[in-house]
Amino acid sequence: EIAAFRTDLSVLLDQVGGGKESLSFMKRRIRRLAQQWATAANHLVAKLGQRWRDQKKILIHVGFLTEESGDVFSPKVLKGGPLGEMVQWADILTALHVLGHNLKISMSVKELQGFLGVPPGRGSCPLTGPLPFDLIYTDYHGLQQMKQHMGLSLKKHKCHIRVIDTFGTEPAYNHEEYATLHGYRTNWGYWNLNARQYMTMFPHTPDNSFMGFVSEELNETEKRSIQQNKVNNMAVVYGKEASMWKQGKDSFLEILHKYMEVHGTVYYETQRPPEVPAFVKNHGLLPQHELQQLLRKAKLFIGFGFPYEGPAPLEAIANGCIFLQPKFQPPHSSLNHEFFRGKPTSREVFSQHPYAEEYIGRPYVMTVDYNNSLEFDSAIKEIMRTKVEPYLPYEYTCEGMLERVHAYLQNQDFCVLEPPFIPANFSRRGSASGSRVIRPLFVPLPNSTALGWASNMTAPTAWPPLSSLRLLVSQEGQSCVEACQSAGFICEPAHFHFINNKEALLEVQCEVVDSEINHILPAFSVMRRECSLQREPLLFSCAGHSPKYRRLCPCRDFLRGQVALCRDCI
Ligand code: UDP
Repeated sequence: EIAAFRTDLSVLLDQVGGGKESLSFMKRRIRRLAQQWATAANHLVAKLGQRWRDQKKILIHVGFLTEESGDVFSPKVLKGGPLGEMVQWADILTALHVLGHNLKISMSVKELQGFLGVPPGRGSCPLTGPLPFDLIYTDYHGLQQMKQHMGLSLKKHKCHIRVIDTFGTEPAYNHEEYATLHGYRTNWGYWNLNARQYMTMFPHTPDNSFMGFVSEELNETEKRSIQQNKVNNMAVVYGKEASMWKQGKDSFLEILHKYMEVHGTVYYETQRPPEVPAFVKNHGLLPQHELQQLLRKAKLFIGFGFPYEGPAPLEAIANGCIFLQPKFQPPHSSLNHEFFRGKPTSREVFSQHPYAEEYIGRPYVMTVDYNNSLEFDSAIKEIMRTKVEPYLPYEYTCEGMLERVHAYLQNQDFCVLEPPFIPANFSRRGSASGSRVIRPLFVPLPNSTALGWASNMTAPTAWPPLSSLRLLVSQEGQSCVEACQSAGFICEPAHFHFINNKEALLEVQCEVVDSEINHILPAFSVMRRECSLQREPLLFSCAGHSPKYRRLCPCRDFLRGQVALCRDCI
């Protein structure tokens, strides 16, 4: 059946149900952004034209909101607890609904069992028949619950699962046996999924798919009125929980206060939280739309280093603020910071909000060393002088999110076998020195007979298409994430399959080629002049790096403002 765009959200609102504060928060958000979604849907309809879109049967099981997982979030909605996840789930639900798919929403194990058609009760009672859904969106809590209640059949159906995973999961952590043997075992990983089945909040881990969320968009009239009403010396602090204001903030808050009026939205019950200095005008935790109003007046939104990678800085920049945030030197990671400890990633975070730093940057985002009071002082002065317009990257608009989710739904399929290896036309010229694009490589899709496919078989098509592939050899110790980025591309894990072969490695002139199981492969050992190919496709990893190895990297082009998609992706 064809999926028809929907602009009426009332059915979705009924499906979300009610009662809990978390659900009310999500429903308020869905209602508030309804008009924006409808406009975006109309734009996308025009952009996509008459293209056929399959309607998918989708189960959405929001594991972290179930009573069975302890639901630690709902009671904190009104108390300054994390809201980013709820923002993202509300937007995912809306995007799938607007794209016209057939949704079932589950927020308890009982509903999950009902939708899957497994008998209620405890213990693992495998689902015997076919899976009644094309896709299941869930999170790590939900996966655990499905394992408990679907038993063995989860394995059989796992290619249909998508895991919403804020901070991302790297391949080395996802592969159960490898993680266990090599010290990558955590409380979360080891599900042996294709790493692209994990969907993140920001495009920080190209091994995973970038799902994202949306922020409020402004029309031209609103933009103009915001710019006219900006209060040049008004700052809002990023931190809705008093604990975020603890320790060591006084020195730079004093500097800030020299120049600006400081506002906060810190949750409190009856008394002003002692962590918040007296000169701060605290509004208490605000409903989302009131926070937007405050941001519209403010010139500066300032981060204290925590929370990491939340939605609020994007909302601030979208409302015409400049975001000031601390640089982390050394970077924070699961090795040295409690918050990241046990998360299935080795990613190093160089500032509070790496997306803001890397993808948005100046003049909207300033990342400075807060321990250097001179640097901090001059940043504040520069901010007060600088005029910016409200800015929102396309990928965080409703249209951008719809376009991306549409592309995933129609093209990502982890149930089919990988397409066969396509021998590429590699150049033998050049040496292995430096990290440069050896030769921008265009790999044409050969016709099916060249691949040994009989004419009555349909040749599998790759997505992202192979036209987007650019082959690159990293420097020693460099990951493919960095190597691709330094050349203006992005690492594309789907393309590993096509470069994991002797032909691709000809360029680096290896004397020996073998194959092993290691997440830094395919790669080239400079000292031994040895090349190794990857034997375990689940371990293809953009993130992997190792001091003595130069990696073979599958990069691709990307659209400005929509990094998840390449030029020929839609
Ligand atoms: N937020 C809010 N009221 C406030 C402060 C924040 O509604 O007083 C909302 C904000 O609009 C954002 C969400 O909380 O969408 C999440 O904010 P944050 O970036 O702090 O991320 P979190 O750590 O909560 O995931």
